[in-house]
Amino acid sequence: MQNTPLSVAQRDQLADMLAGQLAQRQSQVAVRQGQESFVDHAETERQQDSNDVMQRDGAREVDGALSARDFSEIANLSAALGRIHGGIYGICTDCGASIGFARLMAQPEALRCAACAAKREAQHATD
Ligand SMILES: [Zn+2]
Repeated sequence: MQNTPLSVAQRDQLADMLAGQLAQRQSQVAVRQGQESFVDHAETERQQDSNDVMQRDGAREVDGALSARDFSEIANLSAALGRIHGGIYGICTDCGASIGFARLMAQPEALRCAACAAKREAQHATD
């Protein structure tokens, strides 16, 4: 099944969505970084309690994982916006087919059409 290329209106809609998601991610990261420095400051005032230190270390690991995911999502969203500006957005990087509008609405940073994404997942599963 061949997907039709995006219309200008569809591409604009997706660009708006990507820009909105990117701004949302960036503000979430900013809020979390603000919270982290606040927590660090509070912890130094009662660092003699060993239970607190253990809990703080656990919390910091979770924060690190979340930040890494946030940063990779920010990178993916930025890259997708870059592809829109470069005129290559919505084209499968594997087979060159158009990625359907419905798929892009669900996953605006998608690099591949549904068929190639499924193929890649199957290959990874057999690695
Ligand atoms: Zn493809």
